Amino acid sequence: MEYEAVIGLEIHIQLKTKTKLFCSCPNLYGEDPNTLVCPVCLGLPGALPVLNGEAVRFATAVALAFNMKVHTTSVFYRKNYFYPDLPKGYQITQYTQSFSTDGYLQFEHEGTIKKVRIERMNLEEEAAKSVHTEDGHTLLDFNRSGVPLLEIVTYPDIRSAREARVFLEKLRETIRYLDVSGCDMEKGQMRVDSNVSVRPVGEKELGTKVEMKNLNTFKSVEEALNYEIHRQIEVLKSGGEIFQETRMWDDFERKTKSMRTKEEAHDYRYFPDPDLLPLVIDDAFIKEIKSSLPELPSERYRKYVDEWKIPPQIAHTLTQEKGISDYFEEITKYLNDKRLAANFVATEVVRFLKSGDFGIESFSVTPEEAGKLLRFLEEKKITHTAMKQVFYEMVETSKRAHEIIREKGLVETLKKEQVFQWIKEAIENNPQIVEKYRSGKKSVIAVLIGSVMRQSKGKADPKEVRVLLEKELEGS
Ligand code: ADP
Ligand code: ZN
Ligand code: MG
Repeated sequence: MEYEAVIGLEIHIQLKTKTKLFCSCPNLYGEDPNTLVCPVCLGLPGALPVLNGEAVRFATAVALAFNMKVHTTSVFYRKNYFYPDLPKGYQITQYTQSFSTDGYLQFEHEGTIKKVRIERMNLEEEAAKSVHTEDGHTLLDFNRSGVPLLEIVTYPDIRSAREARVFLEKLRETIRYLDVSGCDMEKGQMRVDSNVSVRPVGEKELGTKVEMKNLNTFKSVEEALNYEIHRQIEVLKSGGEIFQETRMWDDFERKTKSMRTKEEAHDYRYFPDPDLLPLVIDDAFIKEIKSSLPELPSERYRKYVDEWKIPPQIAHTLTQEKGISDYFEEITKYLNDKRLAANFVATEVVRFLKSGDFGIESFSVTPEEAGKLLRFLEEKKITHTAMKQVFYEMVETSKRAHEIIREKGLVETLKKEQVFQWIKEAIENNPQIVEKYRSGKKSVIAVLIGSVMRQSKGKADPKEVRVLLEKELEGS
């Protein structure tokens, strides 16, 4: 029997607001432990939470970017459980009345358009960070306690590990365009829980799902899913049964291991937080955020491919990062041929960014200078090789394009090449003259020189043309 995988993802994204979700402590990563704390985020008795408006704006932008319905009223709940990283004994989160629901993310995958529906998105607070030391102690850093998080839950629309990975990459791309989170998985700014089941192909009912936690790179999400899909199929094929459980991906052994079964599931005793009013936003607010959204990567991708006729692979490279896409679009303002700019950015610029340890923001060549350089190429004043040479020098020296071209006499080089081209044409187009010349009537060379001079509109040097022509005619 053939089986297919069914995958749904739950993603947590840390928002890069200036301050935490319910207090005015700075939201910063990498500071000395427990230096960014106050009674609210330490959970001291009597401290009252006050909702951060910037977090609401960021959440609204994300919801709109994923085509979700933003609810004008949503409610904060207390999710109760005991754990050392949760000083209040509960996490403030949203529950039955979500921040937003019913969205989707659409992307191209293996030549088809894939649509993954997003069930809901909630705004909630982050717990403190536990650091487990080698000698068996656990240290707690409350700088992270109260940092705003988005919880994004998809429908089980994903059908392979690879598809899950591409979905996550697209999700991250879009959120980065909005500039509301770094989505750096290594820093815990984006965390993924994967739910996966398998079922016989053609079956409509969903199989029993397994949840996997502890996936902190795209690669481990893909690997863990592949492992788990394989494991589940093997169990079913040998007549076994899948149990609903939470499994952990062991990055070292490269396999999943059972963490807890359904019987041990928590009962969180959710109830609305009496310290917080329902969150009410109006349509005008939603409209305002909507009008301030940047052009999203999926929109830019379509524009590049459909309108600007840029090859899909290059369009993909250009849209991955907003900074690179902006840089490219800026260059196109100096050119007629957008594809010239596209190739240049996707190869030359991206190569430099990869080789160095910096982003496009700190790249030394401004898009204006790059545009002016490419203009020389577009107007055929320099060759492609010369363009690259000038570009490398621009990166090294931060001199301007026209300075380097003048210094190196690169426009001259082109003239020579161009003259050469005209000489070849003159020879090809006048076989009888060439005949005569070769049979001894050297004076007819004047006809060929005249032809080249006409092509160059008188700009070529006739003496030089004669020398070059003679060389060419004798040589072959
Ligand atoms: P729970 O009640 O365990 O929280 P939900 O129905 O809320 O489960 O779904 C949680 C996540 O699991 C969602 O991303 C959803 O798409 C996914 N999911 C639900 N059922 C399945 C299934 N049978 N197989 C794979 N994924 C599933
Ligand atoms: Zn605080
Ligand atoms: Mg659920």
